Amino acid sequence: MKSIAQENNKPNIIIILTDDQGYGDVGFNGNKQLLTPNINRIANNGVVFKNGYVTYSVCGPSRAGLITGRYQDQFGFNRNPLFAPKDANIGLPLSEETLAEALKKAGYTNMAIGKWHLGAHESFRPLNRGFDEFFGFLSGGHKYFPEQLVLNDISEVKAQFDAYDTKILQNNTRIEEKEYLTDAFSREAVKFVEKSANKPFFLYLAYNAPHAPLQAPEKYLQRYKHIQKKDRQIYNAMVSAVDDGVGKLLDKLKELNIDKNTIVFFLSDNGGDLSKGSYNGNLRGGKSSLFEGGIRVPFAMQWPGTIPPKQVYENSIISLDIFATAVAQAKVIPKNKIDGVNLVPFLIGKKKDAPHESLYWKMFDKESFAIIKGDLKLVSIKKSTPLLFNLKKNSTERKSINDSIKVKKLKKLFDFWDAKNSKPIFDGLAEDKIYSEKHPDRYQNVEKY
Ligand code: CA
Repeated sequence: MKSIAQENNKPNIIIILTDDQGYGDVGFNGNKQLLTPNINRIANNGVVFKNGYVTYSVCGPSRAGLITGRYQDQFGFNRNPLFAPKDANIGLPLSEETLAEALKKAGYTNMAIGKWHLGAHESFRPLNRGFDEFFGFLSGGHKYFPEQLVLNDISEVKAQFDAYDTKILQNNTRIEEKEYLTDAFSREAVKFVEKSANKPFFLYLAYNAPHAPLQAPEKYLQRYKHIQKKDRQIYNAMVSAVDDGVGKLLDKLKELNIDKNTIVFFLSDNGGDLSKGSYNGNLRGGKSSLFEGGIRVPFAMQWPGTIPPKQVYENSIISLDIFATAVAQAKVIPKNKIDGVNLVPFLIGKKKDAPHESLYWKMFDKESFAIIKGDLKLVSIKKSTPLLFNLKKNSTERKSINDSIKVKKLKKLFDFWDAKNSKPIFDGLAEDKIYSEKHPDRYQNVEKY
């Protein structure tokens, strides 16, 4: 039996986003210690993007780019937002259209699960940004063990990172979660897919794993008892929990016979934090860096029956392409000009050229930027001499090239792109203390959610 989504020829969209998972922290990028048999299934069923990037090397801005399909610098979301539930300026600007809002125009039912991090003020929350359902938390991270979720709501939060201790939100209601958080998110994802199978749906499954705090239950830890390094043992266990969840979700798509009508993307929001158990393969740097370890992430996609399986795609692509691909398949016109490209023609052999002329990164507060054009990458960190690399010959960015003409050209290209960008529109994590001093009632009298 064909579902309504199939009849309408609008595929379901699932984005599985992990948090701070390193480039080398998946089997499909060669890891033999950390087992990800289910995440690998996505790659086997479709494509591994060997050079898949995100738009920033920390959580918030990367998510803002992903969910809007636009470089977040254009709308000033170039910092990790503060958790400020009463502030109607700290979040994804309402002028921006989320992928959920765009797909809604094509009749999709949308759910966000897990970490939000795009604003805690009521106006920024998932249910006001195109999602029909939400199960998760609003801040930039969270504890995982249910017995540690002790704060009843935001009115009990006293400081930025207390938000990690709040009870989980189901839409606008705080609930008593009984499971390990990653398992809870997987459970809700399967539930949503089950009830949405006969209509086009969009599932944004944003696991906070394996972001700190490193916490995993025995069930997953026992798979890595042989690993001596404690943080790596827990980290692997956390990824294993995600992997089990991905397996359940993929099984459910098959069981419901909607796997061929569902596009599944898997990626991490930024590179791994090397101080917290991550592994970025042989890439240089990690989270918060503009070297490859910060911005190149594990990235795979499946659309069985449409995209040929077992592909390894070498051209550079970026998380912005998810929005562009999704709206192209759903046949909706985005409200704003988007920066990504529809990947499908490139993956079915219709287009042979590179999807992007060039890709850009800017870290406003660090006065740093990077640009990739073809095989060349320019990394400029503060006032130091910009570094030029040929990623094809030297993907580890250890040896820079001395070529002032090429450096100049790339810098000019970056400046041209940068000319239309905005300054940050809100305070970031670095302003936490100052913000609290200026707003002593930061968490007080927040409506109960
Ligand atoms: Ca992250």
